[in-house]
Amino acid sequence: MRLTDLTVRNFRNIASLDIELPENGVVIIGANGQGKTNLLEAIYYLVLFRSFRGAKDRELVRFGTEGFFVGGSAHVRVTAGYEVAGQRKKVTIDREPARRLGAAVGRIAAVSFSPEDRAIVAGSPAGRRRYLNVLLSLSEPKYLEELAAMRQALKQRNAALRMGNGDAARAFDSPLAAAAETVWSMRIAWVERWSDRFKSICSALGEPQEAGMRYRRHAAGAEDEGSDLQQLLAKTIDRDLRRGTTTVGPHRDDLRLSLGAHSLRTYGSAGQQRTAAIALRLIEAKTLAEATGEVPIGLYDDVFVELDDTRQANLLGLIRDTLSGQAIVAAPRDSEVPPELFERPRWVMSGGRLEQ
Ligand code: ATP
Ligand code: MG
Repeated sequence: MRLTDLTVRNFRNIASLDIELPENGVVIIGANGQGKTNLLEAIYYLVLFRSFRGAKDRELVRFGTEGFFVGGSAHVRVTAGYEVAGQRKKVTIDREPARRLGAAVGRIAAVSFSPEDRAIVAGSPAGRRRYLNVLLSLSEPKYLEELAAMRQALKQRNAALRMGNGDAARAFDSPLAAAAETVWSMRIAWVERWSDRFKSICSALGEPQEAGMRYRRHAAGAEDEGSDLQQLLAKTIDRDLRRGTTTVGPHRDDLRLSLGAHSLRTYGSAGQQRTAAIALRLIEAKTLAEATGEVPIGLYDDVFVELDDTRQANLLGLIRDTLSGQAIVAAPRDSEVPPELFERPRWVMSGGRLEQ
């Protein structure tokens, strides 16, 4: 997958940008706060139509302006615009308005690497569920629909629970369970498919201990193994009524990551957590490549910083094998970009402007 051109208007500190992108990518150098991450965020907006930093759309609008626009072409032309006034988001695919965002996400395939990815490993289960949700939404056509159906049923069930109406809540058990079982099975199938690869990539990056990845169903005790969600919901209705929320289901689950016998979240060092986060991004790239038949674009924000020489060299090797396509690499100074990536043109970002 290659992005050939990019147009940005009033996105964060980028007022106006029109560029053609080299086939193998580009290295963007710039001091802190100049707009390097903003540019990567704008590109990734064309993938998911949301900020990869979890920012709200209106926060992406350049201060003092009414809305932003991003457009780019790969083998498909994708544009996205947002207006503060109507809080409206408009997406087009090959110049046709996209009626459902779910069908438009992932038409441009990219994987973003950022130092903040360590939070996926070190943070709460919500971040790991989000990792799975994004990844599966981009690679499995049905996933986003099932997830949306699940959230809708969950919202209604929780509203009834908050009003203390158990019968009304239980009316949503069946639609909730139907969507949730699909979400579960797709997540579990993905984890089973990729856990060996997670282990081998951590090892290839230079981690001596054995890394593990498994899916953990929340509040499913040993006696609940094999019960379906409908049974679990019936069983937990009293607890759910007391707490005013649904306490079992995919929205409470976790992706457990470990080194040896220990949780990476609880016991991993900063470097170990970062290594695992990079491994997650690399298997994301592999998953997208399998789903789309094309190597996704690699967006690298400060990715080599903090890594020792060995891990840096190992990572470069893995990127060369896994993500051999277009690379857009951002770094605060030349010395942080390994020479192997310097074959690419080097542009400078300053005050939201790119000097080529
Ligand atoms: P670093 O090397 O520190 O990561 P960076 O080049 O990646 O720096 P960015 O995060 O891309 O920096 O840009 C940060 C700048 O963008 C800040 O100066 C911030 O004030 C500005 N900025 C953020 N949001 C907006 C916005 N909505 N409108 C205008 N400017 C914004
Ligand atoms: Mg940055």
